Amino acid sequence: MRDTNRYDVLFEPVKIGPVTAKNRFYQVPHCNGTSDWAPDAVARMREIKAEGGWGVVCTEIVEVSETTELHPFPSLHLWRDADIPIQAKMVEAVHRHGALAGAELGHFGLAAGNRAIRNPPLGPSSHLTFESLEPFQCKAMDKDDIRTFREQHKAAAVRAKRAGFDIVYVYAAHNLSLASHFLSRRYNQRSDEYGGSLENRVRLLRELLLDTREAVGDTCAVAIRFAVDEMLGADGVTFDGEGREVVEMLKDLPDLWDVNIADWSYDSDTSRFAKEGFQESFTGFVKQITDKPVVGVGRFTSPDTMVSQIRRGVMDLIGAARPSIADPFLPNKIREGRPEDIRECIGCNVCVSGEMSYSPMRCTQNPTVMEEGRRGWHPEHMPAKGSDDAVLIVGAGPAGLECALSLARRGYEVTLAEARNDVGGRVTAESALPGLAEWARVRDYRVHQLKQMSNVSIYCESPMDAGQVLEFGVARVVIATGATWRRDGVGRANFWPVPGSDAASVLTPDDIMGGCDVQGPVLIYDSDGSYIGNTVAEKLSTAGYAVSIVTPSPEIAGYLFLTLEQHKVVPHLMKLGVDIVRLKQLAAVEAGSVRLDCVYGGDSVTLEARTVVMVTGRSPNDALYRDLLARGDERKSAGVRTLDRIGDCLAPSIIAAAVYSGHRHAREFDKAERDYVPYLPDMHQTG
Ligand code: ADP
Ligand code: SF4
Repeated sequence: MRDTNRYDVLFEPVKIGPVTAKNRFYQVPHCNGTSDWAPDAVARMREIKAEGGWGVVCTEIVEVSETTELHPFPSLHLWRDADIPIQAKMVEAVHRHGALAGAELGHFGLAAGNRAIRNPPLGPSSHLTFESLEPFQCKAMDKDDIRTFREQHKAAAVRAKRAGFDIVYVYAAHNLSLASHFLSRRYNQRSDEYGGSLENRVRLLRELLLDTREAVGDTCAVAIRFAVDEMLGADGVTFDGEGREVVEMLKDLPDLWDVNIADWSYDSDTSRFAKEGFQESFTGFVKQITDKPVVGVGRFTSPDTMVSQIRRGVMDLIGAARPSIADPFLPNKIREGRPEDIRECIGCNVCVSGEMSYSPMRCTQNPTVMEEGRRGWHPEHMPAKGSDDAVLIVGAGPAGLECALSLARRGYEVTLAEARNDVGGRVTAESALPGLAEWARVRDYRVHQLKQMSNVSIYCESPMDAGQVLEFGVARVVIATGATWRRDGVGRANFWPVPGSDAASVLTPDDIMGGCDVQGPVLIYDSDGSYIGNTVAEKLSTAGYAVSIVTPSPEIAGYLFLTLEQHKVVPHLMKLGVDIVRLKQLAAVEAGSVRLDCVYGGDSVTLEARTVVMVTGRSPNDALYRDLLARGDERKSAGVRTLDRIGDCLAPSIIAAAVYSGHRHAREFDKAERDYVPYLPDMHQTG
């Protein structure tokens, strides 16, 4: 029998000021790339988490007044009374399942461009703003501005209370908050009582906590979200310096300490750079200073780690953003004694890339996220099958695995045929690259679930051709055969094959992941910009090869800007001794060298390279699909009624897109046409 009692501590109620959380599972504030653009969709996404057992569910940042605005990033507002009903949607949805609702009130300070509202951004002293390429500087706030801001913050707190929130935040984290900009010696050069000593720099934060308590503290808990360390050493707050002193100064003022590290890239560090529980060495001290409950984060997905955090007195509430996105039902699965069913976050930050590209959040592990309202998808429920048709899926990569699982959950009889001797496709290959081991969870979760099902058969070492598919004799065929890296260099920068790219010395990431021999020095030509070029560089460099990575872009790994990793990848490669060559386009592969053209028309250069790895574009593996498509009559007489392709075979993309493609195909399997839904059905603008 499974010992579930050891997790009971996670389900103890926790008193937070005047309110009580029913358990220790706390969804900390997190953005979603949607906010006020589609409040019904956001409310439904939050509701699903409450249904899944989270004791507290919070908003993303709610801007307190028209002096702060983050356009084009979507965010919430409590600027005016008219905004209250919009926020109340989320509160009502969360309350329906007995969870508390928290509102993260905030002012972006120097981080706001105020591009749409066109009021000058505000800061403690005159300084360039962060979130804009434009040369905008903030207005240094005078005493009237500070007074007005405090009144606006207080009014927003009252509106939050009227919307029904149980917890109201004062925000001083991520370097995205006016209160933290006042706190910072970098940005605060004031000579009045709000500048100079730490006591003075913390004054605004203290006043906001007192104001909020006075305004709503009778019925609402007042929380502070505070970054105890900015990872900047002497230039910032540190957990053993001013971070600690601030906690000591304010220890009894809030009802709850929500603590983390800054900036966002460190708070939401990826599995490539940080492992579960990575914030403990920074935030662990807080509970020793305050008697108030403490919530912290650390990409917690293991209930044993969570229990350890509580038992060792690191925190009182298990905070989670990404683990709650990947599996909104994580608490219920632990409560029901089936933690092995948790769809664990892989720490890839594809969710973050949604917000960073001003688009609704998506998740590699959870294809239903932000589709709960728009498409009516539930992460744990699938509609019953619409027919008794048997299904053959060819290819067991993320698309094939997800499609098989989702169809099997619907009750279909599914056969999954895979050419290789293992399943997982690109996930299996890529998770063996340096730092990406946790990505194997995409495969492992699905394989574990599939093994519990009696209506799925998986056959490895079964490469299928068109004849074999037709012989198999099923009504429904789905092709999920993936994509292959191109060898000819065609991609984002090169429109035509690179001369010399047919040489034996030219390899692809598939070759490297497959264990192909290389000879140094190695030159990686990366116009793809994702994690592939730089993880391949790391792998080869660690294996002892001299490696250069060449990009036609101003910087390598452009895509990783969206996952908050780019500025970590560059120094990481530099430390490994990888030579980084920017703004050069591959012109030709020659014997033992390559010719590179300057993208701005400057001089060409020749670099020595005995192996060239092309990380450029990918070609869909759609030969099987096309062959079957061409055999219309044969298909008909074999009884194949539908033939579809999904995932990278349809359109090469990120793993999250393959999982989504497989899931969507299973949802729409019985429909004559694909569902049409507007991309943001309840588009709503405030202002
Ligand atoms: P996706 O991301 O779309 O799931 P992957 O490339 O990760 O694509 O996975 C595709 C899988 O399909 C790989 O594991 C590959 O071995 C398998 N595959 C490709 N062609 C065939 C085929 N003809 N028969 C069976 N399996 C195939
Ligand atoms: Fe975790 Fe990746 Fe999903 Fe974000 S997108 S929640 S990091 S699995």
